Amino acid sequence: MITPGAYLKALRRGARLSLNDMAARIDTVPHLTDFERAGWLERIEADIVPMDLSTLAVLSRVYPFDIAVIFELERHRSGIEEATTPLCILCGKTDRTKCTAGHEAACRWTAPPKSAGATA
Ligand SMILES: [Zn+2]
Repeated sequence: MITPGAYLKALRRGARLSLNDMAARIDTVPHLTDFERAGWLERIEADIVPMDLSTLAVLSRVYPFDIAVIFELERHRSGIEEATTPLCILCGKTDRTKCTAGHEAACRWTAPPKSAGATA
């Protein structure tokens, strides 16, 4: 199973965007330079910066994440419960969402997808 940060990274890669692309699309308070924002996002994706609600609010403008998956992965990381939602580690999609990277046939799942029509 992957971490919340790795999930965000997969979503960004699925959208074929760089950290700099993401940094240019968000704003932060206090204001950071694009370079500083890219570094901040990199630390979030590495699970170094915790994702509190205000961070998630900013991230939701650029990362197409499923909030339920973020919380599931966080609970898994904390050892509270298993994460069971199948995720593609390459593009971050779940078996509830469409492939964003256009590589659907090549998706690499953390667990076998359950939804009808999803490819293994
Ligand atoms: Zn995929």
